[in-house]
Amino acid sequence: MIRFVHILLFLCLGLITIAQENELFISDKIALEESRNFLLKSNFIESQNNSLTDIVYQRMEWQVDPAIRYISGKVTSYFKSETELLNTIEFDLSDSLIVDSVFIRNNSAAFTHQNNKVEINLQESLLLNQLDSATIFYHGVPPTSGFGSFETSFHGTEFTPVLWTLSEPYGAMEWWPCKQSLADKIDSIDVIVKTPEQYKTASNGILVSEQVNDSTRTMHWKHRFPIATYLVAIAVTNYERYSDYLETENGDSIEILNYVYPEDLEDAKGKTPVTAEIMQLYQNLVGDYPFAAEKYGHAQFGWGGGMEHQTMSFMGSFGYGLIAHELAHQWFGDYITLGSWQDIWLNEGFATYLTGLSYENIETDWWPVWKQVYSDQVKQEPDGSVYVTDTTSVARIFSSRLSYAKGGYLLHMLRWVIGDDAFFQGLKNYFTDPKVANGFAYSEDVIKHFEQAADTSLTEFFNDWLYGEGFRFTPPVLNQLTKEKQ
Ligand SMILES: [Zn+2]
Repeated sequence: MIRFVHILLFLCLGLITIAQENELFISDKIALEESRNFLLKSNFIESQNNSLTDIVYQRMEWQVDPAIRYISGKVTSYFKSETELLNTIEFDLSDSLIVDSVFIRNNSAAFTHQNNKVEINLQESLLLNQLDSATIFYHGVPPTSGFGSFETSFHGTEFTPVLWTLSEPYGAMEWWPCKQSLADKIDSIDVIVKTPEQYKTASNGILVSEQVNDSTRTMHWKHRFPIATYLVAIAVTNYERYSDYLETENGDSIEILNYVYPEDLEDAKGKTPVTAEIMQLYQNLVGDYPFAAEKYGHAQFGWGGGMEHQTMSFMGSFGYGLIAHELAHQWFGDYITLGSWQDIWLNEGFATYLTGLSYENIETDWWPVWKQVYSDQVKQEPDGSVYVTDTTSVARIFSSRLSYAKGGYLLHMLRWVIGDDAFFQGLKNYFTDPKVANGFAYSEDVIKHFEQAADTSLTEFFNDWLYGEGFRFTPPVLNQLTKEKQ
């Protein structure tokens, strides 16, 4: 995720001739704090029951109209028991939404819905690894709690309605029954959305069908890669569509599918083609785009920044820096997701640094600027570690200074310490590690790969710069003599 403000620092650097939208400069400071204020008050704690089941598949069938803040539909979940005897299954769902009924294999099932949890009695207890499924029918108005997880707004001179979802970190339960977990990806999903005919729905994976009947349009998206709950997303408005392509060496191509507002179509068509060049660079530096069998894409939405929804990033605009950042997340954030919010730099520090690498290799005039701006930002305040010690503060988790800038700079320093060969080999080895591929990673996973590639211990480096505060700036204390002279 990235949220930025325009600041005038680049004026001081004499680079005003570069007229591109200046998106090097991120700030979560005020906006993010405000938009996620809710979490500060009620830190979500993952259910202890999460470990009892493994979600293997979910099929979401929704009906929405972007002109109305409302959702109805059904979600079918296939799950496996991870315990010897499973009698109930629990899903996270806001109490603001109403569960109409629950079915298990076509039989109505008893359930309770309280404290934002739906608990379903299984008709037959499940043994270890036994598979079952349940369908929850529900409807209601998603709460406006401040998450911004289900938003409606307008765009263009005609004030056309637009609806989008943004569930990171724990907003999915505000619009669909799910398992909010950083330990269990959904192995596969189908997203089927019915809207008034004039709207189109963007989502994860590939579009397998689109049907118009009786003034409604139903679009069916299919995604066959494991996906974290908070990366499931839809965006709905009167989109125009076009594709860019990255031609690959074996003669195939990867589609980069763009869903944009009609009034911004020409502007977007001029800006998005660079995505292919950046994707090629990341493939060279890190490894193949992990979802090449499906697609990559952008869907325009009304938020100020971007969000790396898997295979379909939601974009407030199409500046170079934002495109590079959200694309980088497909490797680090989506394919490899963080195992705990303490490790957020594995998402944001990596995406920040890959964006830096895209400047170093493609938009080279901006590389010195990237280094200067982030170095300055890191040193704006004297303290703070990259590793998050207080996960009750969402403002701290998404701190642009610590998780983005300092996390990115940590990687740049590490590259200097161990050299280019070991650094990029370690990065590649981490990306292809079967332990974290399509799963979750902790800081220790990446440290191990850099140590192996560099054939040295990096304990001191990471103690200083990840877990510790590293740089500490102490303002000079003027002695009495100096003061008198002044
Ligand atoms: Zn990000």
